[in-house]
Amino acid sequence: MTRPAILGRLGALFTALAASVSPSPAAATDPAWKLTEDEWRKRLSPAVFEIMRLHGTEPAFSSPLDHEKRKGIYDCAACALPLYSSKTKFESGTGWPSFYEPLHGAVSTSSDYSLLEPRTEVHCHRCGGHLGHVFNDGPPPTGLRYCMNGLALVFKPEA
Ligand SMILES: [Zn+2]
Repeated sequence: MTRPAILGRLGALFTALAASVSPSPAAATDPAWKLTEDEWRKRLSPAVFEIMRLHGTEPAFSSPLDHEKRKGIYDCAACALPLYSSKTKFESGTGWPSFYEPLHGAVSTSSDYSLLEPRTEVHCHRCGGHLGHVFNDGPPPTGLRYCMNGLALVFKPEA
């Protein structure tokens, strides 16, 4: 490889690294939820803003929803779109609320390179808010593990 080619590759690597330090949130699909980051900051608590708009991760075992066993629906903490049913929740032992399947069309995914190992980022389909990640080590029937930040969810118990 020639020296300019190597420098070009390094440049691309640094650009990728810089992007991974401050990941940009996914775009909202509903125009009503295309808010500026300032507008989001006013709507969300600082802890929820950190997770949903800045791709933060809450500490493991910190969410009461990790142990939530009641029947109900988990809504997006930013726009209230129903995301998961308690029917698909399972005990993953990771310290984060985990589901094997989202409600139909509720979430979208994108590639996340912020750690050395690429991960699949999960966000709310409607408002683009970051929820967590999805991994291939979940239980049947999907084999998927949607590892969610409890702060990104609001639980609505069944009436
Ligand atoms: Zn949302």
